[in-house]
Amino acid sequence: MRKIKELGEFGLIHHLSSRLKFRASDSILGIGDDCAVYPVKPGMNEVISTDALVENIHFKLSTTTPEALGRKALSVSLSDIAAMGGTPKRILVTLGLPERISVSFLDKLYSGFNEICNQYKVELAGGDTVSSPKCFFINVAVIGEAKRVFTRKGAKPGDLIFVTGTLGDSSLGLKLLDKKKKGGKDNKLLIERHLNPTARVQEAGILARSSINITSMIDISDGLVQDLYHICKASKVGARIFQDKLPHSPEFARTCDKDSIPPLPLLLNGGEDYELLFTLPADGVKNLNRQFLKAKVLVTQVGEITLKPRKVSLAMRDGTTETLSESEGFNHF
Ligand code: ADP
Ligand code: MG
Repeated sequence: MRKIKELGEFGLIHHLSSRLKFRASDSILGIGDDCAVYPVKPGMNEVISTDALVENIHFKLSTTTPEALGRKALSVSLSDIAAMGGTPKRILVTLGLPERISVSFLDKLYSGFNEICNQYKVELAGGDTVSSPKCFFINVAVIGEAKRVFTRKGAKPGDLIFVTGTLGDSSLGLKLLDKKKKGGKDNKLLIERHLNPTARVQEAGILARSSINITSMIDISDGLVQDLYHICKASKVGARIFQDKLPHSPEFARTCDKDSIPPLPLLLNGGEDYELLFTLPADGVKNLNRQFLKAKVLVTQVGEITLKPRKVSLAMRDGTTETLSESEGFNHF
């Protein structure tokens, strides 16, 4: 009998989805991107996605609060809508509840949901509640709208690669949580970035409203390199990124220094940044920088798209180049 582990997460999804033959005639995108997409009226598409968080895989009740868990469960789903250039509108929440979960815990979880719903003007419009023998899980399905849709496919050789925000904070925050190093301003900020990530809905809106020719986009949930590989595979191109250009926060740099943690693996493969990773031709860069400067949000060029399919390489500070492995990022199996 074949084991799930042999296929891996993405191999399994491919294996299962390749057996599904029916496609709705109006589908713009089905399985394989951050969201499925279909038109709802001329010039407007709906984008839909779903994400599950499972206790002791995605979170530990000993290291988070119910409010923060509620915020994060929603933020990671909204991030998939942002990754398509969409605006989230409605969510459905399914809870799998073992007996030990209390009503007061769920009240606090829903306070977290409420906060994010108010912040992003998203309606929690339904869901499902079931008992679960041991494992506590939350599933969030989200529906949004997008006039222009940015997919993983479309990056061209010569396009430049950009990311919003900074990389590595979340995975360093997780390391600190695991080591119970919760004291100090820097540690607190990094842990907060892990427990309370920001969905880049505002940034996606800037890109969607602009005339910039975004050729591909994804959100970084499994690490920069793994998610860049997703763009490269879908677009049949390669990529080169530059060690010196990877954006990081001062808190990240100070903590890596202080605790002798090598920063590069976290910048390249640390998951759960929920930043946007996208590509555009060089003639759009001035416009991009102007828009992001105006909105006071960080955007950084980290590399360029190359001809050689499926090869992501890193130009190191010392002038050498190395090919990066796809499999260092997060994979469930
Ligand atoms: P993300 O990391 O953005 O949440 P995933 O890596 O979970 O996306 O999924 C990749 C693609 O595969 C998405 O298009 C998703 O909808 C699809 N997918 C994931 N799991 C399944 C499944 N069990 N059946 C069908 N499609 C799936
Ligand atoms: Mg995604």
